[in-house]
Amino acid sequence: MSLWSEFRRDRIYVNGTWTEAADSSTITVTNPADGSVIGMVPNAGAAETRLAIEAAACAFESFSQISANDRARMLRDMATAILDNQAALAELLTREQGKPLAEARGEIAMSAAYIQWFAEEARRVYGDTIPSPWVDRRIIVNRQPVGVVGAITPWNFPSSMLARKIGPALAAGCTIVAKPASQTPYSALAWGVLAEQVGIPAGVINIVTGDARAVGGELTANPLVRKITFTGSTAVGKTLLRQAADTVKKVSMELGGNAPFIVFDDADIGKAVEGAIAAKFRNAGQTCVCTNRIYVQSSIHDEFIEAFAAATQKLTVGSGLDHGVTTGPLIDDNAVAKLQEFLDDAVTKGARVVTGGKRHALGGRFFEPTVLTEATEDMSFAREEIFGPLAPIFRFETEEEAIRFANETEFGLAAYFYTRDLGRAFRVSEKLQYGLVGINEGIITTEVAPFGGMKESGIGREGSKHGLDDYLELKYVCIGGL
Ligand code: ADP
Repeated sequence: MSLWSEFRRDRIYVNGTWTEAADSSTITVTNPADGSVIGMVPNAGAAETRLAIEAAACAFESFSQISANDRARMLRDMATAILDNQAALAELLTREQGKPLAEARGEIAMSAAYIQWFAEEARRVYGDTIPSPWVDRRIIVNRQPVGVVGAITPWNFPSSMLARKIGPALAAGCTIVAKPASQTPYSALAWGVLAEQVGIPAGVINIVTGDARAVGGELTANPLVRKITFTGSTAVGKTLLRQAADTVKKVSMELGGNAPFIVFDDADIGKAVEGAIAAKFRNAGQTCVCTNRIYVQSSIHDEFIEAFAAATQKLTVGSGLDHGVTTGPLIDDNAVAKLQEFLDDAVTKGARVVTGGKRHALGGRFFEPTVLTEATEDMSFAREEIFGPLAPIFRFETEEEAIRFANETEFGLAAYFYTRDLGRAFRVSEKLQYGLVGINEGIITTEVAPFGGMKESGIGREGSKHGLDDYLELKYVCIGGL
């Protein structure tokens, strides 16, 4: 069995080789649970990114020409290698990201599932033949890889967010230059180790750690990059969209959310509590589909809060490496400060703390899982993503009101609601302006279904049979003179 340290690389992966930054500068990576140093990765910039792009462009010439079967085989081998090393990759992930080992193992399994899915989809890139309006011509539509892909990924799912991009890119026949978040670069560099292990040709997968603006600037400006795929905040997504406009690149954006979680008075309250705990506190509340606002119908309001607060108190805070821990640390000190601001703002405006409400006795970046009631629309979490273990509960009276509150945001990624009324299930799901809707379920992500947001939560979908579309161009070929 391999060790986590066997996947740790302190170099960037460019054109199949491990190299330093040109000026040898580095970024220090720490374990958010105790601040200990895990290692140093290169602080690369535009020059190294340009080399990686050129390598990817060169590799594209041959990689786009190999058979779909061969690409599928490489991806299948990669999925197998991920699962063979699940424990080591999970431990590496927990050390740099903080989530409990069980969640990290789940994320690594999810990475393998995405890669496996796209191994299967690689062989199904069908085109069309279209009945021609001319007797002497035929019409064929092919789907071809877009070319070099620039991928920028966040720290909350440092492995699986790359799987969602590497999988479809390679399945389509594209090559890729990826820039991970500086907090969690090792889980991304591990993809370079996997690529080597399974014999992915040099230049097909490149991983560059470093200065976000410099690397992102080069990825968006360089005309050799034909597509930008990004997962992260809406603010950075907008910057990348603007930058990518100058060379008219294809774009996919998985941006922020502000997920409502509605509990109607006909819901199974036990199930709703279970779903809310999972949807709120997974990864210490640091996922873009995490519940941000819980809306509970008046007549069951107090009953729900009592059960939800009791379940919240059962969560165990600690280092993700420790057995039985359900809630790890926040990613950095800024995240802790921001969470405290959300809390202070709400309490000043009349919210009541039911449980939690302060930094955890463990100190550092640990925060108590917190439940607030009497939340109102003027509190900052009504509009902004909390990204931490703080659950505000709002009260509502009618179905119309719940839908209005839920949609009153510029975001549109995930929404959840609990009801046992079939008519209501259809009415509400159709009116929610969200890309993902969970009815009586709090965790709904799977590689077989399309993941992506409406409104300012994004553009495009990842996973599912639609997940390849953004990596392919349609080419219409007309054959005349027949
Ligand atoms: P989060 O809130 O998840 O940290 P960010 O949007 O700040 O979200 O970060 C997501 C990814 O975007 C990270 O890899 C980060 O380094 C990168 N990033 C941040 N700012 C820029 C930028 N100006 N250009 C390109 N990438 C950026």
